[in-house]
Amino acid sequence: MSDNKLEALKKYFGYDSFRPQQAEIIDTVLANEDCLVLMPTGGGKSVCFQIPAIIREGLTIVVSPLIALMKDQVEALRGNGVSAAYLNSTLSSSEQDRVMWQAKVGELKLLYIAPERLFSGNTFEFLREWNVRLFAIDESHCISSWGHDFRPEYRQLTNLKQRFPDVPVIALTATADRVTRRDILKQLNIEHAQTFIASFDRPNLSLNVLPGRKRIEQIKSFLNKHTGQAGIIYCLSRKGTETVAASLQNAGFRAECYHAGLPAEKRSKVQEHFLRDDIQVIVATIAFGMGIDKSNVRWVIHYNLPSNVESFYQEIGRAGRDGSPADTTLFYSYMDIITRQDMINNSDQSAEQKELLHAKLNRMKQYAEADICRRRILLSYFNEAVDHDCGNCDVCRNPRTRFDATVIAQKALSGIARTDQKVAMGMLIDILRGSRNRNILQHGYDRLPTFGVGNELRGEEWAEYISQLLNSGVMDIAYDEAHAFKLNPVSRQVLKGERKIELVKFIPLAERKAKEEELIPKEKPKQEIIRDALFEQLRLLRKQMADALAVPPYVVFSDATLSEMAQKKPISEAQMKAVSGVGAEKFRRYGEAFINEILSFAKENTKPGTRVVKGLTYIETLDLYKNGYSVKVISEKRDLNPVTIISHLIKLKEDGHEIDLKSLIDDKSYKTIINAAQEIQISKNDPLKPLFELLNEQFDYGQIRLAFALWEENN
Ligand code: ADP
Ligand code: ZN
Repeated sequence: MSDNKLEALKKYFGYDSFRPQQAEIIDTVLANEDCLVLMPTGGGKSVCFQIPAIIREGLTIVVSPLIALMKDQVEALRGNGVSAAYLNSTLSSSEQDRVMWQAKVGELKLLYIAPERLFSGNTFEFLREWNVRLFAIDESHCISSWGHDFRPEYRQLTNLKQRFPDVPVIALTATADRVTRRDILKQLNIEHAQTFIASFDRPNLSLNVLPGRKRIEQIKSFLNKHTGQAGIIYCLSRKGTETVAASLQNAGFRAECYHAGLPAEKRSKVQEHFLRDDIQVIVATIAFGMGIDKSNVRWVIHYNLPSNVESFYQEIGRAGRDGSPADTTLFYSYMDIITRQDMINNSDQSAEQKELLHAKLNRMKQYAEADICRRRILLSYFNEAVDHDCGNCDVCRNPRTRFDATVIAQKALSGIARTDQKVAMGMLIDILRGSRNRNILQHGYDRLPTFGVGNELRGEEWAEYISQLLNSGVMDIAYDEAHAFKLNPVSRQVLKGERKIELVKFIPLAERKAKEEELIPKEKPKQEIIRDALFEQLRLLRKQMADALAVPPYVVFSDATLSEMAQKKPISEAQMKAVSGVGAEKFRRYGEAFINEILSFAKENTKPGTRVVKGLTYIETLDLYKNGYSVKVISEKRDLNPVTIISHLIKLKEDGHEIDLKSLIDDKSYKTIINAAQEIQISKNDPLKPLFELLNEQFDYGQIRLAFALWEENN
């Protein structure tokens, strides 16, 4: 049994091993037990029900609310050689009939179905005739009103267990909180089910928080360093998405906005173009993403602060699903917090609900303001113990330093006191820095004793320190008085010199960036340049093939698979199938085309005169050899020594390529060399010079090596 599932993983998905928990979950399902699976977005939930569906006889019903996603999921399964279909309102009635018929005659392994479709008409009655052996309930938090995405139509699933007591149920979700979890089990009537909670860590996602100043400039410079990489920018408002998208378009980037106010047609077009890699950047409200399974999203930027950590984690989780490195950035400023707080205060929620929302927002703020490893904060939010810093967040890369900022705090606080606690951030900074603008003069603030006492710090430094003071409770803010700062008991202690204040040292953005860039080696080694160039070429081929088949490129191969190909340069069937993500069906469909691309890339990059990279030079020799050229001709064509060519062929043979070594040396020479070698007891790894001399320099080193290789093969 256990071999079956690993075999299926390799054959259908091209992966060599299971991720943590996947194997246990599959075993549980195969033992007909119910289970609940909690894994982060991109964690690998699908395999948990797809492998059992493939291995066991009968049909697996997958319930999912994400209609837009079904087509791609089914397409991806078919691309892996698994027979699958979907039923939802996008199909014509004759198409639906056809799918129902396929289900009935047992042609399908998996059937994706929207909950409203499952309970409409007589589908539910049909299920009895369909030999259903497993129900997978995807996005199962939708059944709970405690979850963040309750869907009433999911409630009908409550009957499922009653009607099909013998069919196991696997419920899956990326929502972790305990209340929702318990409710899912209760609603589905599977309270005895085993619960599997995978780690929520996604180590391939880098975590960054940047000060929210000149956001567009920062995004542009980010995009210039991430040419061609697809990503999502999340904004708070529809208007925001439009302005950001427009500025990026003006700067020449392929960006589009996406929000619920756009016509459905436009939205699905934008989404489609993004999936197909025709648009690089989507600027969206949170309306975007639920229906997105694109595995090669390489970065996510939060233009504004999300309202809670769950949403934030889900949104950044859309990057790097393929496991390759991906970047996430959150822009943060003090104004973002205020905006969010205002939104909560002005909403028509109950007081209790508002309190909860403020508490959730506060956790998000703690993340944004952290001066310890950010991943620790995230994972502890999801109740996961972590005992080390991650090394892949901006705090780990740029450790913070604290300093005694009592004087800074006193200056700011006395500015507040002298203005009768009527000023907000902008005005306070102007007073401290001594700006003589109209507003200041009008109020006569230029005559205050605090005017200009803080001109040793730049405006952005003051903004940063004032936010920190506010956040650590050294003063208050009155949202209902145009965000004016107010003194509190702590402020008074500080002003009287009874209390010391520490703040985190401000690092100018440019300096922070420079420091991060120091970590990136300036000049890439040749090997890497070649790898990147080959990756680009393979990416183009992938795009062509995907367009021809009208599927998104990541359905052909993931970025992770392409990058492994670019590194290992497989040119035989066995080598290609050893690449993670190349299963039997994928190889059948695309194997040859990708091998040919690697071969032609090798040819292009090994022309005489270019400094040749090891992997490529073998490939070029192999290509010529396969075309029937002799060692002599190959060596002439390649402008290399025949001895070198022979050593290539020996190496290629060892790697499993079909090379007829025997034809390269005549029998008499072979025997003479081997006899002589045995006489003086020399083997292939010894220095060959004594043998060369014993043979009166009659045979070159190529022939000697060849004889050894052949001898090894025969013995
Ligand atoms: P989720 O549904 O949890 O968000 P998916 O099921 O879409 O995640 O899986 C995310 C990615 O990880 C997919 O590209 C999938 O093919 C890949 N994946 C899943 N299991 C494995 C594995 N055992 N080894 C390598 N890649 C895997
Ligand atoms: Zn860290």
